[in-house]
Amino acid sequence: MPTSPSTGAGRYAPSPSGELHLGNLRTAILAWLFARTTGRDFLLRIDDLDRVRPGAAELQLDDLAAIGIDWDGPVVRQSDRLARYDRAIATLAAAGRTYDCFCTRREIQQAATAPHGPMGAYPGTCRHLSDAERAAKRAEGRPAALRLRADVDDYPITDLLHGEYRGAVDDLVLRRGDGIPAYNLTVVVDDAEQGVDQVVRGDDLLPSTPRQAYLAELLGLAAPQYAHVPLVLNAEGKRLAKRDGAVSLSDQRALGNTPEDVVAAIADSLGYDARTTTELREVFDPARIPAKPWILEPIGLFRPEGCP
Ligand code: GLU
Repeated sequence: MPTSPSTGAGRYAPSPSGELHLGNLRTAILAWLFARTTGRDFLLRIDDLDRVRPGAAELQLDDLAAIGIDWDGPVVRQSDRLARYDRAIATLAAAGRTYDCFCTRREIQQAATAPHGPMGAYPGTCRHLSDAERAAKRAEGRPAALRLRADVDDYPITDLLHGEYRGAVDDLVLRRGDGIPAYNLTVVVDDAEQGVDQVVRGDDLLPSTPRQAYLAELLGLAAPQYAHVPLVLNAEGKRLAKRDGAVSLSDQRALGNTPEDVVAAIADSLGYDARTTTELREVFDPARIPAKPWILEPIGLFRPEGCP
């Protein structure tokens, strides 16, 4: 696996929708390890265009610092970068690569997928509207989202953990009906503009990655190196959530566990005996990342020694 020194950057980009849970912390540690062991900078970006809970970003940064993650330069917030997304959208629009979409979520669910399109993809209902039809929809007062006019059905990427991966590309949303730029666009713009050349994140985002790499190509931007790491799941095999017990750093503190205990548990889940990120950095080998998710038992994930 390539781990040669580089001058690029890795990053962690949480959505400030609540406290980070152990799965998020594990992914953040992995992203930090990948970056730091390859000579890269490590950047922190708050994806705050959606799902924002007041105060959550500050708590997330405190928790990341508490478990020994450091970052370079100021923390960037997407809400400060709207002009950049507007410019990217304008570039695509000028190239004839966008169209207004008036479909509601329900209409999209009900419409059959395009005959040759990928499963679940936007069927292209609004792609071929005439000017008159478009004007009529606008006159009805329906808010329009802006979609990409994609000319491929799928696109290949290479992932350090998943190898060659080809996934669906549809006419994805660039700007939502409420005017907010969509994640698939903002992530591409930000990573490129911030010099991020290594993206390490949860493997739930692997299926979206071909869309992002395709968009990068259309914008003339280099796609980063990707590593999609396994998630942490609860005992039922579902994505970890608050109701699964003591899943945040503050929950663990309330049980008497320190941030070092949490790092030790995360290190253990990765097959290492270490209590700090500094120790982990000494021994980290990306080739050893377990391919399977980390399954956590329902409550009290681990307790200080001596507790029943
Ligand atoms: N803000 C996104 C999330 O928390 C991160 C996406 C990414 O790492 O590209 O899911």
